[in-house]
Amino acid sequence: MKLNRLAVQIGPLTFTVKETRGLRADDGDKLLGQLRYDDQVIDLEAGQGPDAKRITLIHEILHGIFFNAGLRDHDEQLIDLVATGFLDLLRQNPHLLPALGIPLTSAPLAGAPTE
Ligand SMILES: [Zn+2]
Repeated sequence: MKLNRLAVQIGPLTFTVKETRGLRADDGDKLLGQLRYDDQVIDLEAGQGPDAKRITLIHEILHGIFFNAGLRDHDEQLIDLVATGFLDLLRQNPHLLPALGIPLTSAPLAGAPTE
């Protein structure tokens, strides 16, 4: 499952997902994902499994939501709890999105023309 170039709107900012093999933090630690807020990029480790990648994407989106609110210091365990819970909620209740008035559309890609 490829998420590369997926465009994700978080508040007023549009982020572009970039999948990379061997993603590392500045200190050399391995990362599954990172949100580069100022660059509007969500980096994902391409080598992780598809479910882990989805959870990582939601995890980084949650960081973006917190950053938009001015909250810079996050509890990683809380972010993981909400990310896994949210993905499971939507999988267990696929009717929720339309019931909440959210239409199912194809995913926009960064740089793709919009209608
Ligand atoms: Zn995190």
